[in-house]
Amino acid sequence: MARARSPWKKRTASRECELEALSGASEPRAEILSEAKDLRERRARDGSAPIAVVFQAMPGCIFCRIIRGESPSKKVYGDDRVYAFEDIRPQAPTHVLIVPKKHIVDLKQAAPEDAEIIGYCHLIAAKIARERKIEDGYRTVLNVGPKSGQSIFHLHLHLLGGRVLRWPPG
Ligand code: AMP
Ligand code: ZN
Repeated sequence: MARARSPWKKRTASRECELEALSGASEPRAEILSEAKDLRERRARDGSAPIAVVFQAMPGCIFCRIIRGESPSKKVYGDDRVYAFEDIRPQAPTHVLIVPKKHIVDLKQAAPEDAEIIGYCHLIAAKIARERKIEDGYRTVLNVGPKSGQSIFHLHLHLLGGRVLRWPPG
């Protein structure tokens, strides 16, 4: 007699398959599994975009790897839409990168539907600046294109502060 499959196991397996495809990792890490579960439940409740949109990743992109937890970073903040971490070569006492989880190449290639997430990155920068008590003067910077110094082609917002920032920037 065929044994009935447990619906729980079936659900778990299908979620893992989905996450494997979404994250590009053969063994998704526990926190990615847990984050995706919370996300899916929240998104189902409020009817917002499916998590495939949030987790879409570009193979070989260092910031996608950092977001997925496959490369190390010093986390400052994270939620279902953005991840913020310390810049590896800080140019000021506070130098945090705020990165949308969606792989957007740069501002030139941002689509109208990316407006909300780009604005949201700025609000997260303001929140971090408030927490770091650098509200007397900080700067948010989006480098666009190689001549601006953009070196990572996954859109990111720099938050710089904690020292006097000269103008015009170099
Ligand atoms: P941009 O030059 O505007 O593309 O900014 C890229 C920033 O990413 C630079 O300030 C780098 O120092 C920083 N960066 C590059 N790789 C890493 C990494 N693995 N972890 C943290 N920051 C990084
Ligand atoms: Zn990326």
